Amino acid sequence: RTVMQKPTKDARPKPEEKPANPDRIDDRWRPPVTVTEPGTSSQTYVVGKKLGKGGFAVCFEGRTQGTQELFALKVVKAKVEQKKMMEKFRTEMQIHAKMQHPNIVEFYRAFSLQDHTYVVLEMCDNGSLTDMVKARSCLSLPEVRRFMIQICGGVKYMHKRNVIHRDLKMGNIFLDANMNIKIGDFGLAAVLADEQDRRTTLCGTPNYIAPEILSKSGARGHDSKVDVWAIGIICYAMLIGIPPFQSKTQQEIYSKLKTLDYEWKVDSKNFIPQEAKDLVATCLNLVATERPEMDDLVELGFFKTGVIADVLSRECMKAKPMWL
Ligand code: ADP
Repeated sequence: RTVMQKPTKDARPKPEEKPANPDRIDDRWRPPVTVTEPGTSSQTYVVGKKLGKGGFAVCFEGRTQGTQELFALKVVKAKVEQKKMMEKFRTEMQIHAKMQHPNIVEFYRAFSLQDHTYVVLEMCDNGSLTDMVKARSCLSLPEVRRFMIQICGGVKYMHKRNVIHRDLKMGNIFLDANMNIKIGDFGLAAVLADEQDRRTTLCGTPNYIAPEILSKSGARGHDSKVDVWAIGIICYAMLIGIPPFQSKTQQEIYSKLKTLDYEWKVDSKNFIPQEAKDLVATCLNLVATERPEMDDLVELGFFKTGVIADVLSRECMKAKPMWL
């Protein structure tokens, strides 16, 4: 999970997502075997296997008793050490609860019980884009087109409602059973008062952070265009396998991104069309106002000059589809 952070001189970049170690769950996180939601329409969830661990939450499978419907149960210890963390979690829930879009993880409900808070989320069976790209090294053009269009759809919905996600990255982009994109983790999201409103908090993940967030004149703030920058990074990372400014240290990442120091590695097995490079370059514009809106992005040549994967099976989490 990404938290607010200050850039330090030689802090190593955090690996984008640490794979969860299933053998190590701090006991205080482990919820009871069944959890019954308080209230009249009470629902009992049977807690299943652990799905993953974030900064201050652990996700488990949760199946409703009776109907056997499957959900992701995000469990947060109610007495989270820091008050600030709990406040952030509350903001996250407030924003996420208002989001309803086919490409955003559905937030069903949240309730507190004894010393845990539970968030019932749509289950994303196939993990995240990080898992997929790790297993595949890089994705095919038809897959990237499909995922990009769906990401843009979800982000357009947020931006229209003045919500900026601020932590878009492959690890926060999940895949459902039908390999549809589901954007999740609203832990750093913010609601802007209006289109002119800007934020000045330094936040994000080094590889995906937009230059204006780092800029010394940060007082000028940032807006929804930080998400567009992150989408450029995600597109590159899906095509190449690693983010464009990947380096050993956080400081190096920052100095590379400020000068747009990235290249497209030529590889006989992985052809990248000019239209894809153009899309990435438009998003990775140092001048935030010049980055495209979601509506402009989906009109770019990349989506008009090749196949868009219509149906994908879960096998493509591990191997390139046969038809590609
Ligand atoms: P954070 O603390 O960073 O907000 P999350 O609690 O959102 O982290 O997620 C922790 C991990 O749980 C994720 O990396 C992922 O593996 C898993 N996870 C989160 N949400 C879902 C979901 N809706 N469906 C399936 N797995 C999920």
